[in-house]
Amino acid sequence: MQKKYAIGIDLGGTNMRVALVSREGTVVKKVKEPVSEDLTGSLLNAIAGLFSDEVAGIGIGVAGLIGKHNRRVLLSPNLHAVEKIDLIGEIGREFPVPVNIENDANAAAYGEMWAGAGRTISSFVLFTLGTGIGGGIVYERKLLNVAAEIGHISINADGEKCPCGNTGCLESYASARAILSHVVSSLEKGRESVLSGYCGGNFYKLTTEDILKAALDGDILSREIWKNAGKYLGIGIANMINLMGPDAVILAGGLIGAWDIYIQEAIKEASRRAFRELFDRAKIIPAALTDDAGVIGSAGLVLNALHVDEERSMRRTTE
Ligand SMILES: [Zn+2]
Repeated sequence: MQKKYAIGIDLGGTNMRVALVSREGTVVKKVKEPVSEDLTGSLLNAIAGLFSDEVAGIGIGVAGLIGKHNRRVLLSPNLHAVEKIDLIGEIGREFPVPVNIENDANAAAYGEMWAGAGRTISSFVLFTLGTGIGGGIVYERKLLNVAAEIGHISINADGEKCPCGNTGCLESYASARAILSHVVSSLEKGRESVLSGYCGGNFYKLTTEDILKAALDGDILSREIWKNAGKYLGIGIANMINLMGPDAVILAGGLIGAWDIYIQEAIKEASRRAFRELFDRAKIIPAALTDDAGVIGSAGLVLNALHVDEERSMRRTTE
């Protein structure tokens, strides 16, 4: 009998999500909590709460660069703690099922292809717009096994220093972290804004939701910062459209809540920069799975790997 579920994990810079996912790609049960000091302990705990004999495998999506051969996190600018942990080993020792690891944005792209906005799209590029910026590429219905570190393509030759070591990375201009840091530095320089009255004047407590609310209320600084971030995102989108010529660009992550100001600005900028034919071909659409793309994709990838293995062994026994 085929087991009914897989567990999908999405380890981001801020939150960790662990979910029980069906073979149809729906979330049956999910735990979401802030990433804690004891990352391994809280992860194993969350898995234990969902694990049963009906779980076929565990898939992890993590914000970082995954080693092609050792399947460990080599570099994670927003979650350094995972660079020292052998996640597959730690989880595999506790739970006797296959464990798979993938970059979180690649997993989200797989999730959108399997059960989301990319279900009927042949080739697309996914941008995840959150604390940082990630990417995943689906080409002719296959998740490309490439880094797709879209957040770290340079869009400004002499730009800001990025935690990854490069300067002028897309992520330093268009991510939630960038938006918040630009707001704080503008307020500290004395720029006028309704935001200075938020959070009792503690600018570091501001959230992107606060900045969006202020922008929608007409706050000039907030509007300027969203539009500026959108302009840089548009440069990144144009680069990916020119590189891949995709059928779609799918935008995911918390920041797409600011679609009417931030994303609209990005679309305008991308249309100015990308090849006209390629831009016209690529529809720019929001992701469908919102918060769940990562957990669904991670679960889907481990189920897919198991399926491939099953087919291989069936072929072997019939040969
Ligand atoms: Zn970078």
